[in-house]
Amino acid sequence: MTRKQPVEQRVDIGISYTSAYFRRTGDCALGPGLDKVAAFGAVTNAQPRPGVVIAQERDATGYPRWVVGVGGFRGDHAEATLEALRERARDIASPELVKITHDGALIGDVMRYQMPHSQRRRYKRLRRLPEGLLAMGDSITSFNPIYGQGMTVAACEALVLRQQLSRGLAGLGQRLFRAAAKVIDIPWQLAVGGDLSIDAVPDPRPLPLRIVNAYVARIYRVAPHDPVVSLGFQRVVHMLDQPAALFAPRILWRVLRGSVHSRDADRSQALRECVGVDLWWLADGSRAVGPHHAAPCCRRADARRGIGHAVASSGSVAVNALR
Ligand SMILES: Cc1cc2nc3c(=O)[nH]c(=O)nc-3n(C[C@H](O)[C@H](O)[C@H](O)COP(=O)(O)OP(=O)(O)OC[C@H]3O[C@@H](n4cnc5c(N)ncnc54)[C@H](O)[C@@H]3O)c2cc1C
Repeated sequence: MTRKQPVEQRVDIGISYTSAYFRRTGDCALGPGLDKVAAFGAVTNAQPRPGVVIAQERDATGYPRWVVGVGGFRGDHAEATLEALRERARDIASPELVKITHDGALIGDVMRYQMPHSQRRRYKRLRRLPEGLLAMGDSITSFNPIYGQGMTVAACEALVLRQQLSRGLAGLGQRLFRAAAKVIDIPWQLAVGGDLSIDAVPDPRPLPLRIVNAYVARIYRVAPHDPVVSLGFQRVVHMLDQPAALFAPRILWRVLRGSVHSRDADRSQALRECVGVDLWWLADGSRAVGPHHAAPCCRRADARRGIGHAVASSGSVAVNALR
């Protein structure tokens, strides 16, 4: 028996990642008191190449690792070579990316991963679903990985499934897909909104989306030296708050009024105030590391989760330090 396919929505991102592991030792080690640090690229039209550095657990031989990834949209792809990785790190101009890719010891091969489009399948609109068969996770929605949402959304869907199973099996598919759609709506809007802020991604941009993207672009520029804006933004990215929280008066005012000029000192200050740690490498090559007390701007729950955020002086990198 043939059944209707779900309507599928796609955003043609044509993203490619080049990534590699490096040893987190010696000159590239973290400072005392730090064991989890990550720097994420804030992708904008001025700097549309994603970049990420994450401190990872030890490898099988016992060395702590960095995982580094750089990317590009729609054909702007770096080769899977160390030289290409270094060149892109320099283009992105994140001091952390440059430091690790140039001075760190490479582990294994440089790898490449490509994803042609993000996609969402609208199962909840199907009238008839097969009995005993459900879709979950990426098979409902797969996001551009730069936003780091897929696992979180899949875990939230698992909670939704548990909830719906507790009400029995009758109509489970319809109930699950309706409830899952509510979980997916906001991360999907965030991801699609982010992708469509990049000119190379071809889909139409309705006026409300253009307004929101202009506002988010300003957040990126103000956040380096404003921990309240930084943290507000990070809470939305981590799905702790709804996007509407970014328009709360105390954040809106700071974003509209704030300076968009950033220095490393501001960036370091913002990070210290958010999570109580300093940055480890600065653009001038100096190193500033050390745990500090969490400042009052940091909500207690955020401090426990270790969520903090600052954006690099290049406007390209958000730093998220986890204690
Ligand atoms: C490069 C990259 C970086 C990412 N970074 C993040 C991040 O930082 N944070 C985040 O939240 N999400 C991230 N994601 C997204 C996240 O990995 C996915 O959204 C999540 O893993 C989806 O879970 P899933 O169970 O639906 O699918 P998967 O995790 O892909 O699991 C599907 C499994 O099914 C197996 N399988 C496939 N076909 C068959 C078959 N025919 N028979 C048997 N088994 C089969 C596969 O081998 C796989 O193990 C990233 C994704 C990518 C690609």
